[in-house]
Amino acid sequence: MANVTEIFGSSVFNDTVMHERLPKATYKSLKKTIDLGLTLDESVADVVASVMKDWAIEKGATHFTHWFHPMTGITAEKHDAFISPTADGKVILEFSGKELIKGEPDASSFPSGGLRATYEARGYTAWDCTSPAFVKDGTLYIPTAFCSYTGEILDKKTPLLRSMEALNKQALRILKVLGNTSATRVTTTVGPEQEYFLVDRELFKQRKDLIFTGRTLFGVKPPKGQELEDHYFGNIKERVSAYMKDLDTELWKLGISAKTEHNEVAPAQHELAPIFNTSNVATDHNQLTMELMQKVALRHGLACLLHEKPFAGVNGSGKHNNWSMSTNDGQNLLEPGSTPHDNVQFLIFLTAVVRAVDEYQDLLRLSVATAGNDHRLGANEAPPAIVSIFLGDQLTDIINQLENGKAKGKIYNNILETGVASLPKLPKDTTDRNRTSPFAFTGNKFEFRMLGSSASIAGANFVLNTIVAEILQKFADQLETADDLNAAIATLLSETVKNHKRIIFNGNGYSEEWVVEAESRGLLNMKSTVECIPTFINDKNVAVFVRHGVLSKSEIESRYEILLENYVKTINIEALTMINMAKTEILPAAFRFSKELSDTINSVKATGMSVEVSAQSSVLKELSPVLSSFASNLTALKKTLEKANAETGSALKQAEAFSKTVIPAMESLRTDADKLEAILPRDMYPFPTYADLLFNV
Ligand code: ADP
Ligand code: MG
Repeated sequence: MANVTEIFGSSVFNDTVMHERLPKATYKSLKKTIDLGLTLDESVADVVASVMKDWAIEKGATHFTHWFHPMTGITAEKHDAFISPTADGKVILEFSGKELIKGEPDASSFPSGGLRATYEARGYTAWDCTSPAFVKDGTLYIPTAFCSYTGEILDKKTPLLRSMEALNKQALRILKVLGNTSATRVTTTVGPEQEYFLVDRELFKQRKDLIFTGRTLFGVKPPKGQELEDHYFGNIKERVSAYMKDLDTELWKLGISAKTEHNEVAPAQHELAPIFNTSNVATDHNQLTMELMQKVALRHGLACLLHEKPFAGVNGSGKHNNWSMSTNDGQNLLEPGSTPHDNVQFLIFLTAVVRAVDEYQDLLRLSVATAGNDHRLGANEAPPAIVSIFLGDQLTDIINQLENGKAKGKIYNNILETGVASLPKLPKDTTDRNRTSPFAFTGNKFEFRMLGSSASIAGANFVLNTIVAEILQKFADQLETADDLNAAIATLLSETVKNHKRIIFNGNGYSEEWVVEAESRGLLNMKSTVECIPTFINDKNVAVFVRHGVLSKSEIESRYEILLENYVKTINIEALTMINMAKTEILPAAFRFSKELSDTINSVKATGMSVEVSAQSSVLKELSPVLSSFASNLTALKKTLEKANAETGSALKQAEAFSKTVIPAMESLRTDADKLEAILPRDMYPFPTYADLLFNV
């Protein structure tokens, strides 16, 4: 392999390239826009475009594309060649500032949730210069935001950028109040750990469910699963290792700092973690990572499964979203630090997150809600569907001191003025590794662990940024007007802890007791996506997005519709796939076996010899009732699905019909199918089994 330092970022129009190639003034101006979030100076765009084009052509690019994140959850691109015809019938390669800044893709084929009337099918993409452009497969990729002709946003990127802006504004106010004025910008940072499965591609191709839905809709858990825990951090097999190396190289070229690769708990399951980046770059990188994971798999005869629950009864896949806030002069605002000043600042930001998570549990839960993730959350392997925060013993202790501090008044003042004297120094990693918490403090960042493996991380992060911005705003309002800052901080911290400590839970999140206890604490426990979606449009939640300019009311309403539509579409495809496989593959196989058994019994009997056929008869007796039940459950699923599709009352009503009637009907059909799998001879079962898929790489 070539030198890693040479490969890294070699396909990215990054700071080094810009510094080298752009005229000084242009570089400075662009840098300001990127670093300080200022508006882009348009005269700069032409110069940047021309330099970017020359660079991209050197890298082998012939085309460019505005790359964006529509509400489909995957990225979209439309390629245009750089060529521009000349009078003499030839072409020159051109790329203008206008083309760099703005694109006009047809928006009509992307989900809009009713925002865009079809006569306004035009959409705009606008260059997001805070995420670097790159060259991939002969095309220059320009990260962009996507909105409708009327300016309403239709993508996942824009609310994320807006939420970062909102948080920046409020966090700077807090820093200013505390006299910490060296920083001029606060950005949120994210490092998403990505889980995935690798299966053999030839086997993958034999299962329609994997092809159409990304997960198995039928299948019996093999005799050996993950109980021996021999896979976790186990030796990486040669084929997988070659895949990981290849993937790393591809990611590094794009400046994606893939750092850690290891086996996960389930057989055939793995994880990749990059080094953290700003939220928007991390989001772009995670999308690219998922795309390349699947592409590189093809080269190795593998298929990469990103679904949250590819195999029932086997661990699912998630994405741990490590999140923090840092300043442009290098302070991590969630770093406990060792000096008193840092500690007070740290405690304010920490308690702001605690309050935000408590007050907006519903939004955080919603931000990770998808049909796929419903199989995971609360299923004794992933965090429960209840949102809570793990702080670890030491921090919880401090939090409790803060609450009591107010009661003791003087001591509390003392704590702040003498520099948090009674607070211990907080070394990193004081927290133990509680794996069951959905939202865990891990030394100098929070790890939001409820995200599904296939989801864009944009959603969870724009929610997180917005709700924290909201609380920081409340805090800043309170502190800025205080006569006695120390006393005001003391009151603020103590009240925040008192009012929101119910969200802190350091115990086992998988336990039954927690469900009961959480209920007594008044915490939400929303088990399914359809339960979560309506919370999006309640007054409190609409207000917070509108207040911080992250989403307008109509944008929220459109997203609400899209979420419901996506849910219905997902389950509908799953049910149709199931019906198809049941009818055209499983049922005929079961009939064949049934016939084979009866033929054998008949022909033995026909010989007139007194030979035992009880073995064959008993299998046939076992098979027949399961087969009938399977056939009638198949008919039932078809009817249920038709009825759910005919439910046109509202998008919510329809989603509820899918959740409450179609899913149970699918489960019944699966139960019978899995019984059939256990009865049918291996060579008659029509597609690869779990054992084939999980132990063949
Ligand atoms: P673990 O032990 O859980 O693997 P690591 O310290 O290796 O924890 O970090 C996991 C992820 O968290 C990595 O992607 C890492 O880059 C990211 N991370 C570390 N610090 C921060 C931070 N300040 N903000 C966001 N993500 C961070
Ligand atoms: Mg982790």
